Amino acid sequence: MAIFKPLYLLTLIFIFVLICPIAHSIIDLSKSPFNFIENLQGCHQGNSTQGVNKLKLYLQEFGYLKYDNQIDNDVFDANLESALKLYQENFNLRPTGTLDAATVAQMTAPRCGVPDIIDGENTMLEHNHYHASSKSIHTVAHYTFFPNRPRWPCNKARLSYRFIPNTRPDAITAVDQAFQQWDIYTRFSFFRVSSAPSDIVIGFYSGNHGDGAPFDGPGGVLAHAFAPTNGWFHYDAAENWVNGAVPNGFDMKTVAIHEIGHLLGLGHSQYQSAIMFPSISSGTTKGIGQDDIDGIRDLYRACP
Ligand code: ZN
Ligand code: CA
Repeated sequence: MAIFKPLYLLTLIFIFVLICPIAHSIIDLSKSPFNFIENLQGCHQGNSTQGVNKLKLYLQEFGYLKYDNQIDNDVFDANLESALKLYQENFNLRPTGTLDAATVAQMTAPRCGVPDIIDGENTMLEHNHYHASSKSIHTVAHYTFFPNRPRWPCNKARLSYRFIPNTRPDAITAVDQAFQQWDIYTRFSFFRVSSAPSDIVIGFYSGNHGDGAPFDGPGGVLAHAFAPTNGWFHYDAAENWVNGAVPNGFDMKTVAIHEIGHLLGLGHSQYQSAIMFPSISSGTTKGIGQDDIDGIRDLYRACP
């Protein structure tokens, strides 16, 4: 029997190394599709735990990981570690490569569906900014653009928008106000039309809706919009949409200001106070920040 004892111990150690250090028994009662990440807290390279493949899919969805045959397994490999470090850098977290508590908190936060890295181009990292050289060393800008800087033509400063039929009236009011905010700070003016055609189309959608990735139910991705000159801006119909800072609700105007930023050509910003920061908490409101204004002015600076 004595010979089996070390073997038994070794097996135990092996199992301990394979599973993630912290087994979380507390389950968030909210139904966010990102909540699975909480169960992975403490994971790092070398672990193999159920749910790691979902973490890979999450990082792939937002541009951090390329889709390949290593994504459909639960091995926390070197590629996942690099992707996680990149994510941590983008969100001003310590790039530990470990799924620590701060990283879990950020990753489970509701967010915009537009990826942070598009076509392999990490626009969020400062050293990749197109404009970095034109800025004074005392000014750190965090605004970004889509790859190849798509924008509306200079002669298109008046943009029309419409809502899909049966859009809730309080959303129309909230989006009207969001457009007014951008009107104040940019060269653009916006006007609502009641039927097609229009430059911009806004609506609430759920699940598969043909235009862009399907939505994921309550929590997780809240909305998404497309780079110029596509004009699509979609809310996830499954969210608890509200007007103002209402507990457990998401402010339609705040999310609209963010998505209109995409429609005009802005990518995600690392700067937490910028409206273009990718995530938003429930029960809060936010407006256009200086970083966002600087970004739009930079993107359209060639326009008279
Ligand atoms: Zn976004
Ligand atoms: Ca959602």
